[in-house]
Amino acid sequence: MRTKLVAGNWKMNFTCAEAVAAVESFARIVAIKETTDIVVCPPYLSIGRVRELLRNTHIKLGAQDVFWKDWGAYTGQISPPMLYDCGVTYCIVGHSETRGRFGATEVEEADLGYFAETDRTVNHKIRALLYHSINPILCVGETQAEREAGRTDEVVTSQLEQGLAGIDPSELYFLVVAYEPVWAIGTGNTCSVEEAERVCSSIRGWFARKMDEDLAEQVRILYGGSVKASNSDELFNQPNIDGGLVGGASLDPGEFSRIVMSA
Ligand code: PEP
Repeated sequence: MRTKLVAGNWKMNFTCAEAVAAVESFARIVAIKETTDIVVCPPYLSIGRVRELLRNTHIKLGAQDVFWKDWGAYTGQISPPMLYDCGVTYCIVGHSETRGRFGATEVEEADLGYFAETDRTVNHKIRALLYHSINPILCVGETQAEREAGRTDEVVTSQLEQGLAGIDPSELYFLVVAYEPVWAIGTGNTCSVEEAERVCSSIRGWFARKMDEDLAEQVRILYGGSVKASNSDELFNQPNIDGGLVGGASLDPGEFSRIVMSA
């Protein structure tokens, strides 16, 4: 039996004071939902403050990204030991936004290279996180154009294969996978429940075929992409959807609490 997990990805939102206010309003409500794993991923700068507020709760702290080296001349980067030291136990890797693949964006084509995440860097980051006992949340998913070209399964499989290349299945029991169709992220376009379940089930099938059956049974697979309180119930009730990675709706404490309650 897999424990449901709901992770809120705040992205580049909230000052420290706003982060504190948000946690203060939802932590009390979701505290009773002890059977669900709850993770909040604030921007790096508010992780310390949020940690203090979460200290006596079962809500876990996550980060939105990481660099794969421990220390050194890597200006602007944050390493796994730094996250661990701040109490971070989950970290998002390969989010479509860090990969420079956006569902709806004002970012110009010429600027997309600055996001620069590749399957190869995703693989480095997952290895580094596992080494430091931080649970990676690996995001996979296709763009609108890839979906229209009938390439959804091929894209997701390739992201899994390359992102997890060379990692022994025995090391992946703490991995979480989030199926996030790029065209559904931040756009309000949710994937149909049937299609979300189909892709999550095929991800589980990939683990059974390419890794091992026991891992496939245990690995948690989330759906992400315009999850709201009005659709979370149905999504989280699917046999292969073990919860959600929630962006926009996690910024509203009331909405986020309702989503957690439905898990
Ligand atoms: C996300 O950022 O991972 C996400 C799913 O965003 P949203 O819920 O806003 O679509």
